[in-house]
Amino acid sequence: MLLTRLINVLGVILISIHFIAPSIYYVMAMRWLRSDYGLRRITELDVDPSFVSIIIPTYNEARVIIQKLNNIYSQDYPRNRFEVIIVDSGSTDETIELIHEWVKNHKDVNVQVIRESARMGKAHALNTALRYAKGDIIMITDADSIWMSDSLKNAVSWLMNDNVGAVSCNKVPRTDKDIETEYRGYYGLLRVAESKRFSSAIFHGELAAYKRELLEKIGGFPTDVGADDSHTAGLISMMGYRAIIPEDVRCIEYVPSKGYWSWRVRRAQHLIQHFSRILRYMIFNGRSIPREYRQIMLYESYLHLINPWLFAAGLALIVISALHGSLISMALLLVGLALLAIRFFRTWVVTQVILIVAAIRNLWNKELVWKKIEK
Ligand code: GDP
Ligand code: MN
Repeated sequence: MLLTRLINVLGVILISIHFIAPSIYYVMAMRWLRSDYGLRRITELDVDPSFVSIIIPTYNEARVIIQKLNNIYSQDYPRNRFEVIIVDSGSTDETIELIHEWVKNHKDVNVQVIRESARMGKAHALNTALRYAKGDIIMITDADSIWMSDSLKNAVSWLMNDNVGAVSCNKVPRTDKDIETEYRGYYGLLRVAESKRFSSAIFHGELAAYKRELLEKIGGFPTDVGADDSHTAGLISMMGYRAIIPEDVRCIEYVPSKGYWSWRVRRAQHLIQHFSRILRYMIFNGRSIPREYRQIMLYESYLHLINPWLFAAGLALIVISALHGSLISMALLLVGLALLAIRFFRTWVVTQVILIVAAIRNLWNKELVWKKIEK
């Protein structure tokens, strides 16, 4: 009886921490959100703005590549001030043929196609492209994403600031899945809030721009962390530069309908790799990292690596005590079930489950080269 009671109390404590910790972070972040970036943004790009190398990694993107090229072509930015570098890793569909066809009809923009004979993952491909890139700004964009017409211009204008080392975009998901829209809504706010404070904990491959000299300092894109975008931004932030998601840089992301769950798990696996690596770095070299960034990353690492497990453990304890006849535990479980009717709560719980599955899956497969999921 006493033991059951104890198990019940412990379960309640774990679950409470699980919900209180992110609430505290959220309240803090909403305060940051009300401030500004603390950065001067250079809006008037001069007559000769920075030269940008736009890199598109492709693996079997025949369905979307033309749309992607048209989207870049219609950017509000002088066409002689950027180049497009497509790096393809042995696509087996018509990606390459379609690109060549497009290039023939668009002679006023410089497009290079680099082909790797074997597929060794996205980050490896990006490093290959980097060797050919001439720009001072390196901008990565996934084939299955769309920019607004001012995304390129706005991203460059933020990068003109000496303190900014990297810029990414606000994601607008194109999907009929409520759960994705809901999750993105909160996540997007956090990313902007963190950017205003110092740097976003997470970057997006739909548009991830870096100063070339900083990329060179960190030795190119990390090939042993799946989240090459977030991790590169992390390494740049740890050197003291801001890696921000400005409100006026936006992009549209396609969300898969078939294979949605394995897609979410794979992305969570990549984020877990990113946070574990940064956490390890902070433990050993903490002092050299800007204080604001340390604070963001301690919270975010906790939320992604530890907090989901408190939920699982707390839930298990409450179920055990319910099975041993604890009425309070049974009532709590019923309340929990009822709360699942609320979309926000459901979204939250689903995200915790995904993080747990992802952490376990990371033990045997890091998904550094992943299966293409149709969007
Ligand atoms: P998701 O957005 O996380 O689902 O990842 P995607 O599968 O869309 O991949 C992001 C981008 O990287 C897309 O443009 C892919 O075509 C590209 N990509 C993925 N794997 C490789 C690879 O091994 N080599 C190259 N060159 N590109 C890749
Ligand atoms: Mn994608």
